[in-house]
Parts: sequence; structure tokens; C-alpha cells
Amino acid sequence: MVRKKTDEEEGELEEREEKKDKKSKKEKYIDAEKLLDEYIEEVEIGLGLSHLKLGKDLFKEIIKEPFISAVGQVKSKPKPKTIINRLNSSKDVLMEYVAAKLVRLVELSKLTDDQLEFLVFYSGRAVVDLAPALYREVTRRGRTDLLDNLRYNWNLYGIKSPAKCPKCGFEAVMPDYSCKICGYVLSSKELKDSINLIPQLEEMVRYDAEGLKEIISSGYLYYNSAGPIPPSRFKPKEMEIYYEIVLNGQEKSLLSKVYNTHHP
Ligand SMILES: [Zn+2]
Repeated sequence: MVRKKTDEEEGELEEREEKKDKKSKKEKYIDAEKLLDEYIEEVEIGLGLSHLKLGKDLFKEIIKEPFISAVGQVKSKPKPKTIINRLNSSKDVLMEYVAAKLVRLVELSKLTDDQLEFLVFYSGRAVVDLAPALYREVTRRGRTDLLDNLRYNWNLYGIKSPAKCPKCGFEAVMPDYSCKICGYVLSSKELKDSINLIPQLEEMVRYDAEGLKEIISSGYLYYNSAGPIPPSRFKPKEMEIYYEIVLNGQEKSLLSKVYNTHHP
């Protein structure tokens, strides 16, 4: 309770405070960082992170901020269970935070296998930046069992491309035909094979013969997640991955044949 004290009361208070020093300390806000030192093991177990064996100092550094905000400004000491429940109430966000923090504090090559695995599972939105390095580290260690998970996260949060890289299997082929994950640069043929281009263009004669005709005569096309696009109709959208693809003589004559069969 806050109210102005008279001088008399003040004097009385000081006296009392001296006598009951312990009681007056209870009136102050709890020091959350000190509380973390006390609860650290319980918190690590409660969040299901003890198998990562981060060690006290590293774990403290990682969990400090979320822990402090989970404690909040309180005057009475919360039980570990209360804080753990608060932290666990948005577990996905917290795990993503822990992963981001871990990667900032420890080099990938120095992580244990369990810690690396944790990053693969929980990197969330950070996968956009982390995936190439995680891919390198995972393959270096021969933990190819983790690649499916990394691919899954890439497709969920990364820059998913219409073409799949023939080398690493990630849908991460950029407009310049380079793979964002493994760095491989696809040849024109590999890109065409990856998106199954020629059969798609053959199919186009049935639903968009005019478009196909334009592609054959101009000798090139654009391609995005919606499929092949004749040059005159292509309008690039921001953040969209598309490819400019040039047809070779053989492909052009094959497609001309298909077109002429349907439009004699
Ligand atoms: Zn690749």
C-alpha cells in the first residue's frame, strides 16, 4: 500500500524495519535472476531440455530473459511449477527462441548431436537463414536422418521454390538456378527435368494452345509455382521465385510437332 507517511510514522517505521529486517525484505520485488539460480535445474527439466546437457551457465544465458518475464514483478516468491507452466504455455515460441539463442552462443560445429538435432527440429522461422549451415553440419556428421525434418521446416518457413535441387533434394532453387541450401548450380537441363517442364508444355496444348504457340515462337518462357507462363503474360511478383527458361532447338521442334498435331 502506498501512502504518504508522517514524520512520526516514518520514525516508527524505521525502528520497526530494523527489528523486523527479514519481514521488510519480503515487501520488495523478487529478484528473478537470483530465483533462476535457485530453480535452474527444475526449469531445465520442466521445459524438457535437460537432455541437451547445455550446462548451467549456457542454459542460464539462454533462458534468462523468458524466465524473468515469466516471473514478472512479484513480491512473493512463485513456485517453480508456476513459472514452468507459464513458460510452457507457448512452448513452440519458446523453443524457437531457445534455438535462436543457442545458435548465437555456440558454433554449430561445437554442438553435441542432441543439440544439433534440437536446432533442426525447432529453428522455426530462423530456418531461412540457418538451413544452409544446418545442412552442411548435418551432412558433415552423417546425420542424414535429420534431413527430412530440415526439409519439412524449409518447406514450412523457408523460401520454397518450384524446382527441387537434384543434389540435396531441397525445394530451394533460386531464380539464378543456384540452390540456396547446398550451393549447387543446376544446368538448364537439370532445371527442366526437376520441374518436369517438357511434359507440362506438351500438356499446355490442351488448355492454352495460344500460350504454347508464343513460347515456341519466342523460344523461352517463365516458370513459377503456378506453372509455365508465356513471356508476354509474365509479371513478376515481389518475393516470388520464378525461372526464365530458354528452350533448345530440339525442344522447340518437339513442341511444334505437338502443336501442329492439335492445330493442323
Ligand atoms: Zn541443393
